[in-house]
Amino acid sequence: MLDSTATLQVQEVLDTLNDAFASGDVDRITELFATDCYWRDLVAMTWNLKTVEGRDAVADMLTSQMGEVAPGGFAIQDGEIPVEEDGVTTAWITFETKTGRGWGLMRLRDGRIWTLLTSLRELKGFEETRGKRRPMGAQHGADRHRTTWKEAREAEAAELGYETQPYVVVVGGGQGGIALGARLRQLGVPAIVLDKHDRPGDQWRNRYKSLCLHDPVWYDHLPYIKFPDNWPVFAPKDKIGDWLEMYTKVMELNYWTRSEVQSCSYDEASGEWTVRVNRDGEEVVLKPKQLVLATGMSGKPNMPTFPGMEDFRGEIQHSSQHAGPDAWTGKKVVVIGSNNSAHDICAALWEHEADVTMVQRSSTHIVRSDSLMEIGLGALYSEEALENGVTTEKADMIFASLPYRIMHEFQIPLYDQMRERDAEFYAGLERAGFQLDWGDDGSGLFMKYLRRGSGYYIDVGACQLIIDGEIKLAHGQVDHFEEDAVVLADGTRLPADLVVLATGFGSMNGWAADLISQEVADKVGKVWGLGSETTKDPGPWEGEQRNMWKPTQQENLWFHGGNLHQSRHYSLYLALQLKARLEGLDTPVYGLQEVHHLH
Ligand SMILES: Cc1cc2nc3c(=O)[nH]c(=O)nc-3n(C[C@H](O)[C@H](O)[C@H](O)COP(=O)(O)OP(=O)(O)OC[C@H]3O[C@@H](n4cnc5c(N)ncnc54)[C@H](O)[C@@H]3O)c2cc1C
Repeated sequence: MLDSTATLQVQEVLDTLNDAFASGDVDRITELFATDCYWRDLVAMTWNLKTVEGRDAVADMLTSQMGEVAPGGFAIQDGEIPVEEDGVTTAWITFETKTGRGWGLMRLRDGRIWTLLTSLRELKGFEETRGKRRPMGAQHGADRHRTTWKEAREAEAAELGYETQPYVVVVGGGQGGIALGARLRQLGVPAIVLDKHDRPGDQWRNRYKSLCLHDPVWYDHLPYIKFPDNWPVFAPKDKIGDWLEMYTKVMELNYWTRSEVQSCSYDEASGEWTVRVNRDGEEVVLKPKQLVLATGMSGKPNMPTFPGMEDFRGEIQHSSQHAGPDAWTGKKVVVIGSNNSAHDICAALWEHEADVTMVQRSSTHIVRSDSLMEIGLGALYSEEALENGVTTEKADMIFASLPYRIMHEFQIPLYDQMRERDAEFYAGLERAGFQLDWGDDGSGLFMKYLRRGSGYYIDVGACQLIIDGEIKLAHGQVDHFEEDAVVLADGTRLPADLVVLATGFGSMNGWAADLISQEVADKVGKVWGLGSETTKDPGPWEGEQRNMWKPTQQENLWFHGGNLHQSRHYSLYLALQLKARLEGLDTPVYGLQEVHHLH
């Protein structure tokens, strides 16, 4: 199809959409959609992160929201031309609502809307001070009572949390808390980001010393400041730590270090949280309206207990406590688990000439880093993608526009390609006795990440050590510990000086239990997962990640985090939801998620 035909087709749909919105004709809008349609909305229509599936669900959402949200002005984005490929016409679009301006991506099949992504980008009247609106900085003229930028910053830092209260408290200042803090700062939302560490970035510095990011630089940018173009593809953890520290400073975050939150409670009558903080030995009580837990989805260790552990004469560490291999040269180390951390830790120990055994408890998805980069990410996040005009922002939107219900269908062929390309490598692993999987439906790494946040290793070298028998492999569950060994269910005895439990991390509502109450944690339910009814992602289907970046069953409690890509992209929607509430805008939430599963 000619581009002009695609444009005409899209324009016709948008014109009808605008007419029907103007006259409030839900049926007419619904008819524009294909029967198997998906409308993913990021805050623009639903004040929620919500995917509605099928025409009836579209109609239900519109009936509920249309009047109050008043969408309209749908147009092909300036400078973008709709394209047709394999029977699907794709168009970048813009639109408005009563309160905001939006950006979206629409796909038509047979002239009807198949997938629609709508996302809120800014609130009318509360636009960010950037670009043409950037602050002046200097105050020209003469003023005897002039306050410099530095003095103003210092005064703000001294007062906030003491004489004035923040509207938002963000607990946890890793990449998630920092990215959200930057967005809130830009939007003029008074906020404090609290972290128990000494310095921003310590979350990364304190991890095992060989760690480099597993995702490439194009996927990892923070909002507002992109990594420079000499930044390494896979940044070493301490370099990321320094970047986060620099970012926190230049983005002018009110970031309290050495500030551990002891407890939080919510008073429904006043709609206010009481957050007790130990700030470097001093108790400070904060009274925000909104509380965000950005305490890390890989932050709450799963620490299993086994009989005999107390008699073990060696050392036992969770992977998050394992500093690195230096002390273990010539020693016997058993690493329980076979995902990312386990592989990285085993490889570093091998490099330091420790005698390492990995215990594989269940099958693991392995994908080679270069194959993942080329086949899995390349089209969206790479130098080539940038050359093709796919900016980070566009890539984030394209990625977000594939509804979770059908995302696996797009992923499976990519992983089939990887399997074929690296057949020899996988055969080697199997010969070494390594149990492989590709996810329950063959959809690979991203789906595993979204569904369960675990179960994979991006190979950067450890697999060859397993293939060569340099990292020994054992299988099965741990039965018990003896004074000098770990014993597996089949009786295999693995002598050890050190046991590393690379046993993963728990659901983030565990943080709510620790910091607020078990009652609130249960009220909110499981955090993360789509409800796909695949391993470790029990149903029912939610269609979005449970409880992340969106309203929860606990009023004014939010969860934020995830990988750098998610921290970057979804912090925008969370920040806009918070800003809207600060400004007292109507935020009618559609489809507040129900609670499923307590952990
Ligand atoms: C070994 C490993 C490798 C990873 N590699 C990558 C990668 O390559 N790319 C990627 O994008 N992601 C990666 N991840 C996953 C994830 O992105 C990181 O875990 C990331 O650090 C999550 O950021 P976050 O801000 O959500 O949480 P965290 O970085 O865990 O930060 C949470 C913060 O909350 C603080 N906190 C917790 N409780 C309190 C309290 N009560 N009071 C005050 N502060 C508190 C903690 O001190 C911590 O600083 C990796 C994870 C692990 C474990």
